[in-house]
Amino acid sequence: MSEFDFLSGIDEVPPTPILIAPQPVLRQVTRDVRPEDMAFIREQLPGMFSAMYKAPGIGLAAPQVGHSLRFALVDVAEEDAPREPIVLINPEIVSDSEQMAVREEGCLSLPNQYAEVVRPESIRVRYRNLAGDIIEKEASDLLATCIQHEMDHLEGILFVDHLSTIKRNMIMRRLAKEQKLKRR
Ligand SMILES: [Zn+2]
Repeated sequence: MSEFDFLSGIDEVPPTPILIAPQPVLRQVTRDVRPEDMAFIREQLPGMFSAMYKAPGIGLAAPQVGHSLRFALVDVAEEDAPREPIVLINPEIVSDSEQMAVREEGCLSLPNQYAEVVRPESIRVRYRNLAGDIIEKEASDLLATCIQHEMDHLEGILFVDHLSTIKRNMIMRRLAKEQKLKRR
């Protein structure tokens, strides 16, 4: 776990501000992480983990903090349980189940907005970890949903894009209204 040593003092790290939809960077397709990006990514991780844990949230993708790069964080551990941080670099889904699951989703870039989304119940994902190793991982339930949601972000896709146009527009209007009130 030495890759995650920085998490021991994470509560003291200032959280990176999270961008709220409709910020254009949230709609961009990210570019692959290259070896020369790793130093930059390591610099970003403490602030990003701090933001995710403070929110609290279970996932955060690079575009949500303004970086159009193909990486995301997830941690679906229960609040009182030991942390289970994962950094997914250049993730790809190798296979997914025919079995679908419905789960209520939210997003730190769409605060206070929730809706049921249908996705494959389990997936096999391949990615590089912080050490540069290629990892293949089976995920199901909440972790599968979370990884798919974060990987959507890397394609410029938000969870509301899985809903009907009517529902999506309703949520986006409600979000815009709430954000406007907040700014007053
Ligand atoms: Zn999200």
